[in-house]
Amino acid sequence: GTAEPEWLWRSGSLVPWREARVHVNAVGHASVAAVFEGVKAYLAADGRRLLVFRLEDHLRRLYDSARICRLALPYDLDTLRGAVCGLLTANGYRQDAYLRPWAFPQGVIREQMVPAGTICEVLVDSWPFRSLLEAGGGCRAAVSSWQRISEAAMPPRVKAFSNYHNGRLALMEARENGHDWPIMLNERAKVSEGAGACLALVRDGEVVTPSLTSGVLPGITRDTVLTLLRDLGVRVREREVDRSELYLADELFFMGTAWEILPVTAVDGLTVGDGVPGPLSRRLAAAYTDLVRGRDGRHRHWLTEVPLP
Ligand code: PMP
Repeated sequence: GTAEPEWLWRSGSLVPWREARVHVNAVGHASVAAVFEGVKAYLAADGRRLLVFRLEDHLRRLYDSARICRLALPYDLDTLRGAVCGLLTANGYRQDAYLRPWAFPQGVIREQMVPAGTICEVLVDSWPFRSLLEAGGGCRAAVSSWQRISEAAMPPRVKAFSNYHNGRLALMEARENGHDWPIMLNERAKVSEGAGACLALVRDGEVVTPSLTSGVLPGITRDTVLTLLRDLGVRVREREVDRSELYLADELFFMGTAWEILPVTAVDGLTVGDGVPGPLSRRLAAAYTDLVRGRDGRHRHWLTEVPLP
């Protein structure tokens, strides 16, 4: 995430990345109500185009987040879709690229509480990334002592920057204790999600994932995976999940735009299955790769094509 691209998109035009400045007042209370998205563009298997994955769904979620936070985004969906595609072309990517659309209150804000209806600047930044899908590794996870934010306090379905302090605390604790990623429980002590990724378990050939009212972001990868599982004829259940079910899982995996499909090989120090990514996780990762790289014709509407420069 440190590469400097040539351009970013800012409130209607491409601007040189190095010159995209704000006043210091944009970083204080103004940033509390800022919302964002994380999107990936994959190099197609044919090497001839980039495929932005589920762009419209990500942008819709950005508007949903803005609506709940009562922020006004002065650009319509077509404009933002054009912004993303135009930015990929302008920056000349010939490889996988991550896209970060976000919105924050425009102008100088000194009020402690950003007023409802505040008009936002909208930006899209981008940088190259290396997909882990084809690498096939796993990670070690641990249940966090930090509780997932609840609907009663900070709606977890909003992708607001301020929500990420929750996952950040959990991640630091997990790393401190020698694990890779945290798993957070919600206010009912049921499993919610990781710090930036949803979670599913496999037991007896059935996939179980916490329901959308468990304190999870309505993950687009989660929805994709549930669709792929139905394509594969695998039984899927969305319901409340107990912590102890994690200990009995045959397979466990995170799913998110950044994480893609990341198998969990140990949870709270207990080995999951054989301690290596399980068969269904591997099948799913392969199906996800085929999908995002344009080898699977079934869900074409999820791919926005951008020709290589
Ligand atoms: N939960 C949180 C808190 C996240 O930040 C993300 C990443 N956007 C996810 C889950 C996964 O969502 P998606 O699959 O849409 O990237």
